[in-house]
Amino acid sequence: MTRMLLIGPPGAGKGTQAVRLSAAYGVPAISTGDIFRANVEQGTELGLQAKQFMDAGKYVPDSLTNDLVRSRLNDHDVSEGFLLDGYPRTSAQVDELDEILAQSGHALDVVVLIVAEKDEIVTRLSKRAIDQGRSDDTEDVIRHRFEVYEEQTAPLISIYTSRGLVVEVDGLGAVDDVTARIVTALTARGLAQPVA
Ligand code: ADP
Repeated sequence: MTRMLLIGPPGAGKGTQAVRLSAAYGVPAISTGDIFRANVEQGTELGLQAKQFMDAGKYVPDSLTNDLVRSRLNDHDVSEGFLLDGYPRTSAQVDELDEILAQSGHALDVVVLIVAEKDEIVTRLSKRAIDQGRSDDTEDVIRHRFEVYEEQTAPLISIYTSRGLVVEVDGLGAVDDVTARIVTALTARGLAQPVA
């Protein structure tokens, strides 16, 4: 039973690690970016609204994002734990998550901060632009996403650090190595993986 968040700059590898950690710890991964992209693909009202912000490298407004996460966290499959990837990203979202968890009588176990150097990140995102064709992976938009991260999301690190929740892991190197680093750090905090 684990409730964890993944935080880090765009391109740090949160999405990639979220899939692996979700399998390793037996909890659903909830990626707000994936949920928005799925809505864009399906042409839903939420997708139509979110797309304009995403394509500009801006955050989707809290008014849209918070409701989505609140409803997802009330689903039955997350009652035993979850891994949130890409949420919270603003201090208002931290408040919202605190309230959602308080209402269900739960608390976060850990916040995994994945760090990576900017040069490496730009290289990765440029490659992803070619591989996946994401409309927010162009150079101008990538630069703007960094600025928004620094301004709005980086301050969350000190909020969660003061709560004693943050483990910092180097996101450079092979995907498997990064996963192994995270698992080691979580084990050191006493968080056990389920027996397969
Ligand atoms: P990355 O981590 O590479 O920025 P994501 O897939 O996590 O990619 O997010 C893509 C986009 O989706 C963001 O730039 C933003 O527009 C939107 N988004 C995702 N999560 C949130 C959130 N919690 N709050 C606001 N916008 C979000």
